[in-house]
Amino acid sequence: MIIVMASRNKEDVDHVVSKVEELGYKAHVIVGVERTVIAAVGDERGKHRLQTLEAMPHVERVVPILKPFKLAGREVRHEDSVIEIGPVKIGGGHFCVFAGPCAVESREQLFDTAKAVKEAGAHVLRGGAFKPRTSPYSFQGLEEKGLVLLEEAGKTFGLPVVTEIMTIEQLPLVERYADALQIGARNMQNYGLLKAVGKSRKPVFLKRGIAATINELLMSAEYIVSEGNPNVILCERGIRTFETETRNTLDIQAVPVLKRYTHLPVVIDPSHASGHWDLVPPMAKAAVAAGADGLMIEVHPHPEDAVSDGEQSLRLERFAELMRELEALIKLVGKTT
Ligand code: PEP
Ligand code: MN
Repeated sequence: MIIVMASRNKEDVDHVVSKVEELGYKAHVIVGVERTVIAAVGDERGKHRLQTLEAMPHVERVVPILKPFKLAGREVRHEDSVIEIGPVKIGGGHFCVFAGPCAVESREQLFDTAKAVKEAGAHVLRGGAFKPRTSPYSFQGLEEKGLVLLEEAGKTFGLPVVTEIMTIEQLPLVERYADALQIGARNMQNYGLLKAVGKSRKPVFLKRGIAATINELLMSAEYIVSEGNPNVILCERGIRTFETETRNTLDIQAVPVLKRYTHLPVVIDPSHASGHWDLVPPMAKAAVAAGADGLMIEVHPHPEDAVSDGEQSLRLERFAELMRELEALIKLVGKTT
């Protein structure tokens, strides 16, 4: 249920919050530009009892939240969320580019990439230290050594870093080094992991599962937000279809559909969606045109030598060229970088 407050006074809001909690519900206060609301979430069965709060002073009205995703939905928060990753902003008109190698391989590889993507205008450095690979015999990542390199590269070039976390046990380690936590496609419905990152104070970059619906992606975001972490960035990275020409099929329609339902920022990853470096620039442009709040792009100084995802990685110069091409387009859709 949404309790729309007639007052923005802290004491009045706190009073209603304690009433909500007395009834056994979790209260999330959402301070918007136009109004303050309290989202009362919990067991749907007793929700009629919340309706009685309409009789309280300073309560304007109590209305049900119709969608199954409560806190992630636009019903409780009309305006776009702006999420901060270190000094970088994404959402609500702020466009953000996450760029870097698929995996952290060496100091030289990471530093060359970080320097180049920073100079080209990227905002956040990406790179995997724990890699979810289809084969257990493939390179699994540099683990803590990779995290140390990421933190150092980020500090050297002035880029916050995002990296994937695969298990709950990795959380304290990854949190220590990263500015944002990535949940990969394979873990989108790992509910234990979602709850764990929901308790973290770091923003979460949540990738859509390869066979997940938009509703399922939003419900996964709800797991994180309902644990107290409102800073979730959604990422469409291609879904599996019958098409074999490309690695996955980029669901570009997911952008406007997600924007209709959620206030959370939406990012497109054209690298994993297509699987081919030459498809990345046109799909990146399509993402901007469709209304995405950002892009995640794999970049490597020597894609032919990459230990993972070389075929879809842009060379440093090609990435810089793409960033120049995107600049005018981002301005045209009314966003800033
Ligand atoms: C990645 O970003 O490196 C990655 C493994 O992506 P996904 O989870 O989308 O496959
Ligand atoms: Mn990859």
